[in-house]
Amino acid sequence: MKKRYSLLLLLAGFFVFQSCQEKTAYKALIVTGQSNHNWSASAPILKTILDQTELFTTDIAQTPPENGDMKNFRPKFKNYNVVVIDYNGVSWSEETKAAFLGYVNNGGGVVIYHEADNSFADWKEYNEIIGLGGWNKRSEKDGPYVYYKKDQLVVDTAAGSAGSHGPQHEYLVKARKADHPILSGLPVAWMHGKDELYSTLRGPAKNMEILATAYADTAKRGTGRDEPMLMTITYGKGRIFHTAMGHVGKDETHPATECVGFIVTFQRGAEWAACGKVTQPIPLDFPNVAGSVLRPDYKIVTLDEDLEKISNYTIDKSTRYLTDLQGRIRKVSGDPVAMLELEKKLVAILQNPSATPDGKRLILRELAWMGSDYCLPTVRDLLNDMNLQDAAAFTLERMKGPRKI
Ligand code: ZN
Repeated sequence: MKKRYSLLLLLAGFFVFQSCQEKTAYKALIVTGQSNHNWSASAPILKTILDQTELFTTDIAQTPPENGDMKNFRPKFKNYNVVVIDYNGVSWSEETKAAFLGYVNNGGGVVIYHEADNSFADWKEYNEIIGLGGWNKRSEKDGPYVYYKKDQLVVDTAAGSAGSHGPQHEYLVKARKADHPILSGLPVAWMHGKDELYSTLRGPAKNMEILATAYADTAKRGTGRDEPMLMTITYGKGRIFHTAMGHVGKDETHPATECVGFIVTFQRGAEWAACGKVTQPIPLDFPNVAGSVLRPDYKIVTLDEDLEKISNYTIDKSTRYLTDLQGRIRKVSGDPVAMLELEKKLVAILQNPSATPDGKRLILRELAWMGSDYCLPTVRDLLNDMNLQDAAAFTLERMKGPRKI
């Protein structure tokens, strides 16, 4: 009897595992339509990020505008495996709120994205679902501040308002539950792309685990605490993944959501919310402590693509591929063999007659700090190039001194 029972368990486990790996296994719904953020940009970005996994087919449900009739907003939550909240606006109808709570209570997955933790300050159950929230008159009445200080979890009942951030900047994200399926296999710390660092969030924090934090530096008008960035919450039978990162404003580019750390944790968090497991492999471009890595246009960019774009660069084009290349250089900066391999590829561009002078200028600037003796003959040759002699002289000047040329 006992044996048969174990076999059944094994089969059940196998079945769940299989169902997690099927392509387009899950239906995701992004709820948006009102926000103090640029929701018309962020919702398609989140859809792209989810659909890329090939695990999700993603729909977007858009509410009426703020002065519209919210009774018309009645998404069929129960048809989905995960609902992503990208919304910070007026209250939904009682019927829609009840449908959402029924969905979560019955095991529906939820992803709370960035400003969604500002939303619905007066909705008690929503605050339990998000764990921690900010702004919109939240205060000690809504629950404690929760953060880390000197690597200790602090539940702080001090009075005060909730929600703050300093100017946007790149910051280090540190895993606190590195063995959680969402973080398992990722570096224990990585640099995050330029973003707001949400701080002083407070809320019921029931059934909540903090997976990762970021230090809010007082030099950036921060709290001097390690603030929660990634959280999981359980509510009823539902699993919730909450990311406080990913600000999308009116700017043309969105480094917070182009950041590979954001993209990958969002994808893994959504899968975990949908099925309680994560089957996605860790991508090779995942950042470490050396520097953030962005995916321009949300695609994985190869080194060859970076080099090709830089070879064809003219000053009217974006330098984002250079930024990507700089990330790669920083990542291997402690490895002389890998650095030399990169240097060889950069020198090949300098030697390529069809590469643009503007592109070569970018390369010369990089070589000024990372070049070795290998690049010297090629850089010296460029002293004879009318277009590049100044840039080449600059590089040679910079390479003097510590390198003893
Ligand atoms: Zn924001």
